[in-house]
Formats: sequence, structure tokens, C-alpha cells
Amino acid sequence: DIAMFVHKRKLYGKAAVVFEPHYLSELEYKEYLRNGLAQAIQNDELFLVFQPVFNLHSGKVSGYEALVRWHFKQQVIEPEEFIPLAEQSHLICNIGFWVLERAIKAMQEHVADESIVLAVNVSVLQLKTNDFAKNLLQILKTTQFPASRLQLEITESVFCDEPENLMETFSLLSLKGVRFCLDDFGTGYSSMVQLQAFPFSTIKLDKCFISDLEGAGGAIIRSVVMLAGELNMNVVVEGVENKRQLDWVHDQGINTIQGYFCAKPMSKPAADFKPALVFEQFQSFH
Ligand code: C2E
Ligand code: MG
Ligand code: MG
Ligand code: MG
Repeated sequence: DIAMFVHKRKLYGKAAVVFEPHYLSELEYKEYLRNGLAQAIQNDELFLVFQPVFNLHSGKVSGYEALVRWHFKQQVIEPEEFIPLAEQSHLICNIGFWVLERAIKAMQEHVADESIVLAVNVSVLQLKTNDFAKNLLQILKTTQFPASRLQLEITESVFCDEPENLMETFSLLSLKGVRFCLDDFGTGYSSMVQLQAFPFSTIKLDKCFISDLEGAGGAIIRSVVMLAGELNMNVVVEGVENKRQLDWVHDQGINTIQGYFCAKPMSKPAADFKPALVFEQFQSFH
């Protein structure tokens, strides 16, 4: 019985129930999600949360990253679970544009300060569709949202195959002022060549590095900061969860951070958000 499965799954987590024969197998559960996902937009089950990107230098929020969630049968399903399923069908495009439109609307409703940017994650598969640039520019035109206020976050896996097809899309959108961020840097497939060939303005270091400061993480972050400086790119460190990590990042001269220590994703973006913990800490920086 599916309802019972979902209930138990929620209580005990994935691993505990998946292999119980009278519950759904992982495969059946995916099928169950995939079927539900096809109706998610029509049923108004998707929603967005917004995580601040914080600038240590100015002491202010410099942007918000929109993150999608799916409210399905009394559960909130995480994007890491359903985005891969959406990518197996055309659904990723519908979801992607839905996210873009809603995120822009939320920024226009709540954040008048135009210097605060909006970051939206875009799936490689969506980026590769023929009319991605055209549709995106249409949305910007309709909403009157400045292209320069939009940053598209692309994960490194974009470069697994035939990156050259993407160049046209990148060029066209950059020309209009849209900026690109290479997300989850250090975990994927990009080479140094691609890093400078594509018009990325920002590198976002994957959270695995900051959580491994004792290991190689610190050295890797430092060397990426140097590299980014040479290539004239900004660096964002994501996954800053505690004061020790914040201090370390600040000592390296890194200005832009994102992580639970500043703020968890929240239901709407705000122009004047001040993360209490960091702000207190921040007073001592100056
Ligand atoms: P991402 O773009 O790298 O997003 C950062 C993820 O790290 C988010 O998880 C965020 O909640 C989480 N995070 C932020 N700060 C911390 C921290 O201090 N500690 C820890 N442990 N985690 C932190 P989330 O929202 O579950 O998103 C996961 C991934 O799903 C995203 O990774 C992104 O790749 C994808 N995703 C989310 N929304 C969308 C979307 O609208 N479209 C597409 N295509 N992908 C999306
Ligand atoms: Mg991202
Ligand atoms: Mg990331
Ligand atoms: Mg990630």
C-alpha cells in the first residue's frame, strides 16, 4: 500500500524500508514519483524557497538562489530526488521555466533593490534545447526583469558531452547581460580550458570542500580562489555551516558565501535580510 510505504519511508528514511519486499522497490517508488510529477505544475504542487547569498565585505545580502521543492502527498520531495526524474522527460523544461517565472515574480514582489541578483539553477538538458535562449529572453521581456539581475547556475556536468553546442546559447545570453555561474565546482567534468572558454562570471565551490578544511578542502579552495583571480571570476563558497568555517573563509579574503550559518532557504526573498549570527560576527570584521 503506497500511502503506508510513504509514511514509513518518511519515518525511517530510505534505506530502512526500500528492501522490505511488501513495500515498493526503489524502482517502483521512482515510477510513482514520475507519474505524480507529470501533474505537479497543474496541481500547483511545486514551490520555491530562496537562500541568501551573503557578501562579507558589504555585510549585505547580494543575491538569492531559488531552490525548487515539490509538495506531494503530504511530503516535501527534495530536488535531488525529482529533478533527475524530470530530466528523463520533457518535464525538466516545463519545470525549469516555471521556476524562472516564479522566481522573477517573487523578486519583483519582495526585493526592489536592483543590485540584489537572482540565481536560478538550470539543468543542462534544458539549456541544450533549441529555443532555451529565445524563451528565456521572452520571459525577461514580458516581466521587464533586467537580464543583468539574473544569474544562471549550471553544474559542471554540462561539459560531459558536446559542450560546443552550448556556446551559441551562452554567447547570446551573455551578450544580453545574463550572467553564468559554474555550480558545484570541483565535483564534475570541467577542464581548465572550458572554464575560460565559456563566459562564466562566477565559480561556486561545492560544499564538500568547506566541510573538509582539515583535509585537502582548504588547499583546494585556496587554489581555486587564485585561479579565479587570474581569470577575473568571482568565487562563492557554499555550505558554510559554522563560525570556524566562516572565519577561515574570511581569512582567505573570500567575500561571497552561502550556507546554513548565514541562512537556510526561506519562503521568500527579502531586501533587508540580516543573518543574526553572521552580522554579530561581522561587526568584529571591521
Ligand atoms: P545547488 O544548486 O548546489 O544548491 C545548494 C544546495 O545546498 C541546496 O540544496 C541548499 O539547500 C543546500 N545548502 C545550502 N547551504 C547549505 C549548508 O550550509 N549545508 C548543507 N549541508 N547544505 C546546504 P537543495 O535545495 O536540496 O538543492 C539541491 C540541488 O538541487 C541544487 O544544488 C541544484 O543542483 C538542484 N536544484 C534545486 N533547485 C533547482 C531548480 O529549480 N532547477 C534545477 N535544474 N535544479 C535545481
Ligand atoms: Mg545552485
Ligand atoms: Mg552546489
Ligand atoms: Mg549541489
